[in-house]
Amino acid sequence: MLISAIPAMALLIGSPSEPMPPYADAPFLDYYAQAVAAERSEPRKALAMLELMLIPQDSAVAPDYADVPDHLRANYAAAVDRALGLWGEALGDDFPMHLAPKSWGKPAFTLKFVSRISGASIDQKGEIFVRRKVSWGRDFHVGEVMGTLTVVKFGIRNEFMSEKEVQHVVAHELGHAFGLADCDDLNRIMGPVVLGNPFARLHSDEVAKVKSIRSAIRSEISRLKKRVLP
Ligand SMILES: [Zn+2]
Repeated sequence: MLISAIPAMALLIGSPSEPMPPYADAPFLDYYAQAVAAERSEPRKALAMLELMLIPQDSAVAPDYADVPDHLRANYAAAVDRALGLWGEALGDDFPMHLAPKSWGKPAFTLKFVSRISGASIDQKGEIFVRRKVSWGRDFHVGEVMGTLTVVKFGIRNEFMSEKEVQHVVAHELGHAFGLADCDDLNRIMGPVVLGNPFARLHSDEVAKVKSIRSAIRSEISRLKKRVLP
């Protein structure tokens, strides 16, 4: 009995971490690798990092339409609403975001419209920055996500982007928040936005990828929790 228990225990301590699917976005893979590297010496820090990769439940996304002309605000608001709705439908209860008015205190994600993204090519229509802040101690860990989504207002010939184009760009940037990388396929939300004919929906393949990325993170969290939590 004792002899068989020893290898089992050794297996638990030394078992390899859950691999992150290789198609995940490079910064996402990096952050995951950092979390896994922290597991041995600072497991609470690793837990906080991994939990943030899932984005905390009920994270508010607050769009700011101040720089959008009055006559387009309702269209752009509908586009943002539908972009969130696409991911909401795809992920169901696991969709961690909700739309919030700007007045609701500090949102996890802000979304703003700009004339162009400084330092980027004129073709780049969106950008997302996600900062993750973690605090931990011997028996606690907490984390906070602060994301900024930027969408360029202008599309073809300096005309304002259409509702569908905005929908594509917002859903694309959210895809990055869930760990997806860019691709060249025009029939994917992670492909470039085709001005005049945006894809503006999710491909089942992309939804499956996000689900498997999230499930890998969850497996790693529960593996680590078994070790850390009493
Ligand atoms: Zn992208």
